[in-house]
Amino acid sequence: MRPAERYSRQLPLVGEEGQRRLRGTAVAVFGLGGLGALAARYIAGGGFGRVMLVDYDVVSVSDLHRQVLYTTDDVGRPKVSAAARLLRSVNPEVEVVEVNERVNVDLADRVLRDADMVIDALDNWESRLAVNAAAVRRGRVLVHGAAQEWYGHVTTVVPRRTPCLEELFGRAGRARRASGPRAVLGPAAGVVASLMALEAFNAALGAPRLAGRLLLADLKRMTFSVLDIARDPGCPVCGGAR
Ligand SMILES: [Zn+2]
Repeated sequence: MRPAERYSRQLPLVGEEGQRRLRGTAVAVFGLGGLGALAARYIAGGGFGRVMLVDYDVVSVSDLHRQVLYTTDDVGRPKVSAAARLLRSVNPEVEVVEVNERVNVDLADRVLRDADMVIDALDNWESRLAVNAAAVRRGRVLVHGAAQEWYGHVTTVVPRRTPCLEELFGRAGRARRASGPRAVLGPAAGVVASLMALEAFNAALGAPRLAGRLLLADLKRMTFSVLDIARDPGCPVCGGAR
């Protein structure tokens, strides 16, 4: 199959040069749950050159209502291997890297050495803030999203140009106790995941639309709003002289 045929339905939108840019972009997807699984599916399908899958969880039957890369046959398998198998079959042109390790600052830093862009689809703030710190240190664009119940939000961190996750969510995130799995509607996670994947395309094509902006989705009322957000020059992660 010619590459032009694989991407023929998106080439009119991104152009040959845009497709080359996608091909030249390596994306690290942290978290392969309801957000990361679907975002990774679009990113691999769209022909990004490398997708690095980072997760340390196995597939549970309670994941299947929203985590669209997995089936009942995958229950008990590591998410990275189940996801990688599907993504390789979707698009053999994409290099899929499996990282079946627990997220911490060192791991995030190591993964981001080989990635140009980050999808933060994690489910806890300790890991999210570790990935944020690594992304700032290495200057990688980070697309952050979260979904809970009927609600979600998405923003893009461009290090030292936009607010990072530390100043947006650091204090509130650390104060939040782990309270076990939270309720979320499958399609609500899907909407947020799709927005994150779209933003990854935008960023790879040179124009992230949610840099310095926070998109809020209220999917119970079917409303979206976007807030402009400003940097804190005193941020302990990204602030200070540069
Ligand atoms: Zn910051």
